[in-house]
Amino acid sequence: MLNKLRLLTPGPTPLPERVRLALAQDMIHHRKDDFHKIMARVEGALQTLFGTKEVVLPLASSGTGAMTAAAYSLFKPGEKVLVVEAGKFGQRWSEITQMRGLNVVKIIVPWGEAVDPNQIADTLNQDKDIRGVFLQISETSTGVLQPIPEIAEITRNTDVLLVLDGISAIGLSPCPMDALGIDCLLTGSQKGLMLPPGLALIALSARAWERASSIEPGCFYFNLPAERKKLAKNETHFTTPVNLICGLDVSLDMLLSDGLEKVYQKQWALTMLTRYGIKAMGLEFLAPKNFTWGITSIKLPEGVDGKQVLAIAQKKFGVCMAGGQDHLKGKIVRIGHMGWVDWSDVLAGLYALDQGLFEAHGFSGSRDYLEKAMAAYQTALTVEPGQDIPEVLVRS
Ligand SMILES: *Cc1c(COP(=O)(O)O)cnc(C)c1O
Repeated sequence: MLNKLRLLTPGPTPLPERVRLALAQDMIHHRKDDFHKIMARVEGALQTLFGTKEVVLPLASSGTGAMTAAAYSLFKPGEKVLVVEAGKFGQRWSEITQMRGLNVVKIIVPWGEAVDPNQIADTLNQDKDIRGVFLQISETSTGVLQPIPEIAEITRNTDVLLVLDGISAIGLSPCPMDALGIDCLLTGSQKGLMLPPGLALIALSARAWERASSIEPGCFYFNLPAERKKLAKNETHFTTPVNLICGLDVSLDMLLSDGLEKVYQKQWALTMLTRYGIKAMGLEFLAPKNFTWGITSIKLPEGVDGKQVLAIAQKKFGVCMAGGQDHLKGKIVRIGHMGWVDWSDVLAGLYALDQGLFEAHGFSGSRDYLEKAMAAYQTALTVEPGQDIPEVLVRS
């Protein structure tokens, strides 16, 4: 096949050449000075990325490992917590917290919608035993961005800990941990951070550290106080995934060298590119409002087989996109625009989707969707990230 593979999936994502070269270096020892220097530099950059003065701990695991570490380090069996289930990954919070033996109260949100912060406030007011709130910043199964600043405003003035899965948000849209008053923020390497899977990152607030220090760790491997002790010496508790840390050193340099604002600007512009292109194709969104900045979920017209459309996109054009999960299997397409993905990759994705729809089902929208998508991209680069863009003007 002469096509270049384009991964437009919500992880893993394509990798920059600089990162791949860093990953390819021979091993250095994780308990010696050469590594300590790299770890110290990475730690400083991670604090900037997370917006925190607290430590950010690397864990050798996928993102779910950090979710597990949070549930097992901050709460004791029998304690009551609130989980917002707005999709597949919200359900994972329920599974993990239940396995920890926590007493789980749920707010179930229809797939494609954001949670209403008032509902969280009411639930916490009615039940003073609730000790923590778990949710996603970005629910990757639906493409929804949750109203985190409003939710953090509710929890920060109580003794309820706010635990956020930022796996498809960190490095993609702003979520400054300390400024918002988030108690636990975590991510994985294979989404916004332009790295292979296998590394998770987690940070706790000062009050969350007090909790973690007062609790018997629930798990031998994910022991956050022990990890914190080692990080003070620029090491990890167990053998470090050395090459992933070396890759992270480079990817953080790429993300931070021009300031995080530039990263968010690019992500916002890619989001606008995708959404205006899709709109011009005549398709609808699963998350019309409250959409996330690293992935766009698109409803397929009635009767369209999403699996077939995606197979054509991959086979003929080399573009790999994601379908729906659970009851949305075959019914939606999710275009990832996270990691080392730029405008030309997303244009390729839109074209491959359009062709897939046409070849499989004869579906054909307007013919100027690529121009509209690019016009939206260029306009979005001139506005404040997150701000809606004025009417998209296509050059005639
Ligand atoms: C990808 C993702 C996960 C799962 O992470 P793994 O690295 O597969 O463990 C969890 N939560 C969200 C929001 C994600 O996007």
